[in-house]
Amino acid sequence: MEFKVKSGSRTQLIDITSDVQAALREAGVRDGLCMIYVPHTTAAVTINENADPTVKSDILKILNQVIPFEANYGHMEGNSAAHIKSTLVGASELVAVRNGKLQLGTWQGIFFCEFDGPRRRRVHLHMR
Ligand code: ZN
Repeated sequence: MEFKVKSGSRTQLIDITSDVQAALREAGVRDGLCMIYVPHTTAAVTINENADPTVKSDILKILNQVIPFEANYGHMEGNSAAHIKSTLVGASELVAVRNGKLQLGTWQGIFFCEFDGPRRRRVHLHMR
């Protein structure tokens, strides 16, 4: 199963926790594992705090400092920074499901990470 995400800026963390939870409910998954997979080379998925929004802005701020948009990159498309961020953050997360609920901690949310937006993106879910 999959759902779409539309990013609105060049780099952005988008909370997709409720989309994933809704898909689980729809699929009737009670107990098992849910893999959240991003099929893109300039995006990623991560789990982190979704209570204080400055956490996600700090994550983006430091990623953008450590991996600048402009450097002596070889890749002709001009989006090497996005490819590097995608590889560092990763294309998938795996979350346990119990009684139909994602077993996330109190402060945890699942974030789609846009590194080369704005774009229309997809998120795949694989449940067992
Ligand atoms: Zn590229």
